[in-house]
Amino acid sequence: SIPLGFFGGIGGASKSGVLVKGSNYLEALNNVDIVVFDKTGTLTKGVFKVTEIVAEGDVDKGELLEYTAYAESFSNHPIALSILKEYGKEVNQNEIADYEEISGHGIKVKVKGNEVLAGNKKLMNKENIECQNVETFGTVVHVAINKKYSGYIVISDEIKEDSAQAIKELKNIGVRKTVMLTGDNKVVGNNVGKQLGLDQVHAELLPHQKVEKLEVLDKEKSPKGKLIFVGDGINDAPVLARADVGVAMGGLGSDAAIEAADVVIMTDEPSKLVSGIRIAKRTRKIVW
Ligand code: ADP
Ligand code: MG
Repeated sequence: SIPLGFFGGIGGASKSGVLVKGSNYLEALNNVDIVVFDKTGTLTKGVFKVTEIVAEGDVDKGELLEYTAYAESFSNHPIALSILKEYGKEVNQNEIADYEEISGHGIKVKVKGNEVLAGNKKLMNKENIECQNVETFGTVVHVAINKKYSGYIVISDEIKEDSAQAIKELKNIGVRKTVMLTGDNKVVGNNVGKQLGLDQVHAELLPHQKVEKLEVLDKEKSPKGKLIFVGDGINDAPVLARADVGVAMGGLGSDAAIEAADVVIMTDEPSKLVSGIRIAKRTRKIVW
């Protein structure tokens, strides 16, 4: 049987916006050894803004933005939403064909009969398009039209207000290691990691490589310690399922993530994980 105190703990957690899907997860939160975070939408707001457009070859900036907005118009990735917002006009989706979203890479699609690729360096390499190395702290979306490199769009995201404090407090309440896994580039990843004081950053990961990294970290945890993964669910449902406790952001997060998660943070604030752990520790004192 489940000790009554657990219901108090789960209820208390839910009042502060942390939904715990069972007493076993509340118990697991007592002994967290490693916390692994996704970046976009988890430690950062996931609301990007276009900060730079660089056109090359036959297209000008306006055309580059238009092709990219069309290419992104079926995607609900935060990157796509920011580009559509910057474009600001209606997209005629009848002009779009053969749409393909390649997870961790970007988009391949036909726009007005022209093949458009919009995504990262991995996508360009995969399609044999040479692209320049852009040195910036933003996320870079490279664009190729009919296999010809046509320039790039830089977008940037902001770190959430409470992320740094959350990382600091996790350390204070006994978490030994904090890690970030991201599909974004190394410059962006390392910059965020440094600003937040994370112990480890692994960047340029595809969704299946995030699972592999999690498995390596799982072997490093202390004998009774738990491995927690915190994500927003865009591409990270497999990692959420693999951790001892999968924590999803419930506000921005996808329904699939909320389904796959053991704990849901309704307000999207990383600091709520600290609240959840504190409540778990208090509950333990009452139950035993
Ligand atoms: P994260 O790990 O930061 O949550 P994702 O796994 O969602 O990132 O995406 C990893 C990378 O793949 C992005 O940083 C971007 O370079 C590229 N990418 C993914 N989706 C898109 C898209 N719709 N348009 C352009 N690039 C994309
Ligand atoms: Mg993500």
